Amino acid sequence: MEGLSNCAQAPVSNLAENKRSELAEVIDEPSRSSELWGDWKWQLKNRITTLEEISELIQLTKREEEGIKRATGRLAMAITPYFFSLIDRNDPKCPIRKQAIPRIEEFSVSSCELVDPCGEDSHSPTSGLVHRYPDRALLIVTDSCAMYCRYCTRRRMVGEELPPMSMERFKEAVKYLKSKKTIRDVLISGGDPLMMKTEVLEQYIKELRALPHIEIIRLGTRVPVTLPMRVNAELVNMLKKYHPLYLSLHFSHPREITPEVVKSCGMLADAGIPLGSQTVLLRGINDRPVVMKKLMQELLKIRVRPYYLYQCDLAIGTNHFRTPVSVGINIMEELRGHTTGYAVPTFVIDAPGGGGKIPVAPTYLISQAKNKATLRNYENKIFNYMEPATIP
Ligand SMILES: *Cc1c(COP(=O)(O)O)cnc(C)c1O
Ligand code: SF4
Repeated sequence: MEGLSNCAQAPVSNLAENKRSELAEVIDEPSRSSELWGDWKWQLKNRITTLEEISELIQLTKREEEGIKRATGRLAMAITPYFFSLIDRNDPKCPIRKQAIPRIEEFSVSSCELVDPCGEDSHSPTSGLVHRYPDRALLIVTDSCAMYCRYCTRRRMVGEELPPMSMERFKEAVKYLKSKKTIRDVLISGGDPLMMKTEVLEQYIKELRALPHIEIIRLGTRVPVTLPMRVNAELVNMLKKYHPLYLSLHFSHPREITPEVVKSCGMLADAGIPLGSQTVLLRGINDRPVVMKKLMQELLKIRVRPYYLYQCDLAIGTNHFRTPVSVGINIMEELRGHTTGYAVPTFVIDAPGGGGKIPVAPTYLISQAKNKATLRNYENKIFNYMEPATIP
């Protein structure tokens, strides 16, 4: 950026100005300050959170400027310098940009939208615990994320950056889990659990591991994508002590798979942690079949198995991100059979009001007659499958 060298020569009178131009320099050439760049605490400390900061770095559109101005009091803006560096600053339609920078559209609320679109609060036996399915529970341990996705379904509770779940509250959740022996799977999510100090997260995981009926522990996190430098030896060595432990990552676009992310996922996979990916279907970001197929295939290359593709929830102010359901079904049609089966996630709609995830798929079973199922394949060819004759 031309203007930045001017900033560097300006008199050292305005400290804030200097801090900003230093950040701009690092973002433009991360390799020159790789020590800072690779330090996740530096990345968090230098997140871009204000209109002033971001205006220094990028030519905002009017809609973005208005969106950022009004975002105070709503879901906060916070972008790690690393994630910001993935933005194509000349392209207002950049898929990374649209996920990270608020736009005025967030403030047009449509009547079908809900504060708690998946009905989590009404399925919460203790604060921070959501128990909706018979054998598994979701534990929300923090409201903080490295970067706030503008389409976040938990925007009602995310981004205030309050202290993580207290030990007292956690103990309450554990007491409930102890009393429900049918729960065999706990999913730790947030916000993002990898925003917590490793020691604190370990305390929680350790306590859960001590419950004999908890067979598997899962973490839901986007940090390996938005703050990949957080995945270091210290974290990985901690996590691998608590197997079987699974990670559900959250990817939106193939451009998120950078050398840094290759490394973070590689370290996690080398630690024997099965990695899955969840992707939200987003208008103008990943709603074209070629983009989605590319993302799924790139994920397999870094040992991440696509798990769910989500229809965008009815969270407040996210209408501009939503696509018709048919767009998702069409994407599934273009994946199944056309590429590796491992690259095909399950397309789900999390039913408004707390019905849970409901799978939606193209129809391959055309008709079912007596002893005969008629099917179509991915090439639209028709086949009959004769069912077993009834044995007298
Ligand atoms: C998504 C979710 C789970 C986990 O569901 P899986 O289909 O097993 O991945 C558990 N509890 C809640 C409340 C959820 O939303
Ligand atoms: S990482 Fe998840 S919880 Fe955090 S803002 Fe994005 S969607 Fe919301």
